Amino acid sequence: MRIEEFGDRWRRTHRCGEVSERDDGSRVVLAGWVKRVRELGGLTFLDLWDRTGVVQLVVEAAEADLHELFHSLRAEDVIACDGIVRRRPAEMVNEGMKTGGIEVVAGSAAVLNRSEVPPFTVTSEVQANEDLRLRYRYLDLRREPLQRNLAMRHELALAARRFLSREGFLEIETPLLVRRTPEGARDYLVPSRLQQGKFYALPQSPQLYKQILMVAGFDRYFQLARCLRDEDLRADRQPEHTQIDIEMSFITEEDVFGLVERLMADVWEAAAGVELSLPFPRIDYADAMNLYGSDKPDLRFGLEIRDCGEAFRGTSFGVFRSALERGGVVRGIAFEGGASFSRSRIAELEAVVKGAGAGGLVWVKCEESAVSSPISKFLDEGAIRRLREILCAPGPSLILLVCGEEAVVAKSLGELRLHIGRAHLVGPSDGRRFLWVNRFPLFARAENGGWEPAHHIFSMPLESDIPRLDDDPGAVRGHLYDLVCNGTELGSGSVRVHRRELQERLFEIIGISREEARARFGFLLEAFQYGAPPHGGIALGVDRIAMLMGGGSSIRDYIAFPKTASATSLMEGAPSEVEPELLDELGIRIVKKPERADTSG
Ligand code: ASP
Repeated sequence: MRIEEFGDRWRRTHRCGEVSERDDGSRVVLAGWVKRVRELGGLTFLDLWDRTGVVQLVVEAAEADLHELFHSLRAEDVIACDGIVRRRPAEMVNEGMKTGGIEVVAGSAAVLNRSEVPPFTVTSEVQANEDLRLRYRYLDLRREPLQRNLAMRHELALAARRFLSREGFLEIETPLLVRRTPEGARDYLVPSRLQQGKFYALPQSPQLYKQILMVAGFDRYFQLARCLRDEDLRADRQPEHTQIDIEMSFITEEDVFGLVERLMADVWEAAAGVELSLPFPRIDYADAMNLYGSDKPDLRFGLEIRDCGEAFRGTSFGVFRSALERGGVVRGIAFEGGASFSRSRIAELEAVVKGAGAGGLVWVKCEESAVSSPISKFLDEGAIRRLREILCAPGPSLILLVCGEEAVVAKSLGELRLHIGRAHLVGPSDGRRFLWVNRFPLFARAENGGWEPAHHIFSMPLESDIPRLDDDPGAVRGHLYDLVCNGTELGSGSVRVHRRELQERLFEIIGISREEARARFGFLLEAFQYGAPPHGGIALGVDRIAMLMGGGSSIRDYIAFPKTASATSLMEGAPSEVEPELLDELGIRIVKKPERADTSG
């Protein structure tokens, strides 16, 4: 088969999905990928695809050469074709297809390139496993769902840029080769050739640069920033991600909340045609942990956690009594739909809380006519009434109780709540419930027994908590907030420290001495001495927002070239070894870790 060079003769007049009834009778030139060729009543039909849609080409009976050409084509061959648009007869109209009212009667065609038989069929639904799809990502990306996801992501980014620009923000690029200033995760390092033995880091976020831009007077900054973190990947993490990175001067957290709410409403409308209701509710971290056992609660269902200790005051049920005596808690949730649960379904729920660290699950099943529970002999009528009051469960329901240390109870009931909600009350893409979780603790316990920043060390403590910095850092809350939707954290930010002394004090709490702080963050501390304005900001994860908008379940479906869980790109094979000469130039020698001894025998 003759392959033709592309030239003026085949310049497209339309893209495939753009041809419509308005073009009836006119000549068009189209190009794209062959999807399907079939014969019907002496006519040959060919579905031609490009990213705007599919259009049907038809070869009339008399065109023997074209018949022969079309029948020699395979799926994914690239062709160009010219022809005359004609309306389809009424009975042939395909309502399910954008161009279903017309077809193009082919006049002539050229094969521009052939395709090998693809390793999987390029259709919306695909059977192939994900590794194969990632290896042939260009074919996977040709599929309709991924085409749609990336187009939506483009709209999202465009809308965000337009919105922020209208609000007076400037997009400013910050460097990719930066000084190593760890932010919690491991850095990707880049060796310097010109200064052997030294390394740049790839940025985990533009945090310090955006703060310095505030000192420089760019009072509203944003950037669609690539951020790199060398973490052990969990299912839906990527080593690189994109965030809408924002910083503003002369603001309180209220200004950040207001701006981000309007930004979200704007991009959701533009990219998904969905109207969000504003403002988003707010909850303090401590309340989120108490009520939902999570710092990113899914608010699409209730199942609020309540303290039930009062119903068991003086109880003779030893497990609860000793938990309460030891300063622990008894908390629970009530699940209406659970009133009819069998023992084995309740056992599944017990496995969830045990998996989260709880010792066990106590259940009280309140049916229309009877109450049953493994601890029924310890439950008098008064205790049951009180339980039902506390849990707002007057009717039939399954009451689920966990006792023990507060943090463990919160975590296990939090997971139980999620499990029940997601298994029985909402589907993965049902609704959108945004909220702000605010006033996170500034510090968390580090493995070495000291303190580490709960998020990052540049966040401002609440003024009322500053006196506790010295004696009880764990109790200090920050102007530190997350934007959460349907149980997913979409973004994180804070009002920042903007004075040197306070910043140095925070460094000290996490074990960074003044000297070390000067060595590592001297440029920031110095900048704070030259008129640093009060400032704050946030970073919103574009990949996650896109996934939530698209109702998908894998972040990889919203990234053109994602990596696998071992941070590998299967298409081009990255990371890869490099030539020894390159390493020589960099002054680097690879020392292979000794193979682990085989102990299996
Ligand atoms: N730099 C932070 C992050 O990337 C976000 C922020 O505080 O603005 O998580």
